[in-house]
Amino acid sequence: MYDFHTHTFLSDGVLAPTELIRRAIHNGYRAMAVTDHVGPGNLEFVLKTLVKDCAAASRRWDILALPGVEITYAPVEDIDAMARDARALGAKVVNVHGETVVEPVEPGTNYAAVSSANVDVLAHPGLITLEEARLAAERGIFLEVSARKGHGFANGHVVRTAAAAGARIVLDSDAHEPDDLLTRDFALKVALGAGLDEDEANRLLESAPLELLKKVGVPYP
Ligand SMILES: [Zn+2]
Ligand SMILES: [Zn+2]
Repeated sequence: MYDFHTHTFLSDGVLAPTELIRRAIHNGYRAMAVTDHVGPGNLEFVLKTLVKDCAAASRRWDILALPGVEITYAPVEDIDAMARDARALGAKVVNVHGETVVEPVEPGTNYAAVSSANVDVLAHPGLITLEEARLAAERGIFLEVSARKGHGFANGHVVRTAAAAGARIVLDSDAHEPDDLLTRDFALKVALGAGLDEDEANRLLESAPLELLKKVGVPYP
């Protein structure tokens, strides 16, 4: 199992980073990113902790844990600079909290994310346009199929638009609590529910994560 979008008590999740990682190992995870919500103010604070905790977990336990961020409700004009700063502070996976259909995310957030050379994943992009998906394809930015309630309402649209644009997709839990962590069974249901066939779903769960790891410069050992 792979998962590149999870939260801890450093933002609005409930677990300590090392407990989240330990529970993910229990679910069969092989690699994951811990990506707490960040704005301009807490970027440094969050990464300082996640860089250390992910390094300790990866060194001592049988998992590749990557420090990351989810740039969340940042003013659209600041997203690219924040993504660059996150990278400089040690983030291996840079997600942007996209224009989910269930929240008033600032319009233009999807466009700013797929225009940035420093973003890896546009999380829950909602009703993303074909033009935005094409930009994501050009930059190699992954569009997220979300296993989270609410955000997942647009999964079918995301899958269809990504395919039309040639953009890559990745499936993430967006876990905030222990029960949100993926199991193979549930991830497969979400993938099939998004309109993929069995082969496409298996590719989403097995190959796409390895491609993402390669993109972020941490190929799976
Ligand atoms: Zn989000
Ligand atoms: Zn999230």
